[in-house]
Amino acid sequence: MNLSTTLVLLLLPTTFADNIFYMKARKALSGKDACHTLGVRRKLDTDEEKANEKFRQYKYEELDEGLIDNNKLLARQHFFRVENQISKSKVFNVIKMFPKAALLHGHGTALLSTKKLFQLINRFEDNLYICIENNNVKARYFTNPDKTCSWLLLKDWRDKNGTFDLYLKSHLSLIVDNPEETYRNQNEIWVKFEKIFSTLSGILNYKPVFEAYLYDVLQEFYDDNVMYLEVRSGLSMLYDLNEKSYDRFEVAKIMKAIVEKFKTTHKNFFGFKIIVSTHRNQENEGVRQRAQLALDLSNLHPNFIAGFDLVGYEDKGKPLSDYKDILLQYSGQLKYFFHAGETNWFGYPADHNLFDAILLNTTRIGHGFSALKHPEILRKIKDAKIPLEICPISNQVLMLVSDLRNHPANFYISKGIPIVIGSDDPSFWGAVALSHDWYYAFMAMSCRETDLRFLEKLAINSIIASALTHAEKIIFLNKWKEQWRFFIEDLIKLQL
Ligand SMILES: [Zn+2]
Repeated sequence: MNLSTTLVLLLLPTTFADNIFYMKARKALSGKDACHTLGVRRKLDTDEEKANEKFRQYKYEELDEGLIDNNKLLARQHFFRVENQISKSKVFNVIKMFPKAALLHGHGTALLSTKKLFQLINRFEDNLYICIENNNVKARYFTNPDKTCSWLLLKDWRDKNGTFDLYLKSHLSLIVDNPEETYRNQNEIWVKFEKIFSTLSGILNYKPVFEAYLYDVLQEFYDDNVMYLEVRSGLSMLYDLNEKSYDRFEVAKIMKAIVEKFKTTHKNFFGFKIIVSTHRNQENEGVRQRAQLALDLSNLHPNFIAGFDLVGYEDKGKPLSDYKDILLQYSGQLKYFFHAGETNWFGYPADHNLFDAILLNTTRIGHGFSALKHPEILRKIKDAKIPLEICPISNQVLMLVSDLRNHPANFYISKGIPIVIGSDDPSFWGAVALSHDWYYAFMAMSCRETDLRFLEKLAINSIIASALTHAEKIIFLNKWKEQWRFFIEDLIKLQL
């Protein structure tokens, strides 16, 4: 403000002058604070601006309607309740079209949507036996079932009971009408969550199903405009009807062959890598053996194995510090991608996993939900550019946060902490590939003003944060930019 303006203001009635001073101060303050978020400052060209304007309108319509009637704001609600409505959202439909580059946080046997999983089970219905004991469901393919359980063919269960598919579905997913009443706390939902992996293993470890499954996963993510995946996998041994079993080395080879086959017919597909993982309830020797497997496999298939991680319920599992001697031993030879801080607890072992993940030189952090409470951890994450793999729907379904507008990622984004968006286990909650999680990230974790540039930054972050080499990242980025141009053209033409 110059001197003459100040003099004029001093001559005005006090309240009026105060008001102008106040409004100027307010503008300065909000200007400094406004939307410190991903990509907000990039200048768009004319076409991008046109597409962006359309997208912003879709967003404003949806958000503003939600402000008037909170029940219409899908992004604040539990995914189980609003999945159908999200599929009709204009914003969601644009996000589906958007080239999302890479999935960097997902678990191998929990990636295919429930719908596609059941199509797969129907395709491989022959020889699939189910046994139910104390409401625990086991599944396995046999020519002749063994005597370990009261096995009955899936077909016979279906003949006996017209609603058997619904029963089976309820054991292969967490979806219920009333999640808050069904799952009273995190311990309860994690018990069910881990049971699903166990039921699924008998189905997915059957070699013909596994091969078809992996191909379908790649197709579903590709259709969702995801070009590259890094997936946690324990490389479970496979079996066939001749009682032959395939060890983890063979499983890696089988997976690699499927990926190569997929690549030949999908020109925009950029690749797939495995983060070898094991459960955090393992004894030290089990972890050591799996780390050695990761190392051996990465020597055999250097472009296919990204590194190593420990998975499972952090609040109940062993902390990283229990395995520190082993993890230190392998730290120079393996890249780590540790789950850490996937917890609401403050000052407990799951929360302290963040310290160990950092000290063990982790490449990225799975979730990092509790990092918000640790300024020093946040500083280190930011300085060392360690991306946090944020999985919005997973955190909501597994009860870390209810309204995703309160997710710590809001804070991480505003502080410039690098994040990528993952979908963790979309199969178990009825999400498809990655778009549902991007929808929540965009609608619940960023301020009103964010637009296509936020999505662009998420995609670019996923390329930068990947385990690809520098040269590969440049090629990937250029390929992605081509897709971005196509997307802009399509969005300009889009009629919704
Ligand atoms: Zn995970």
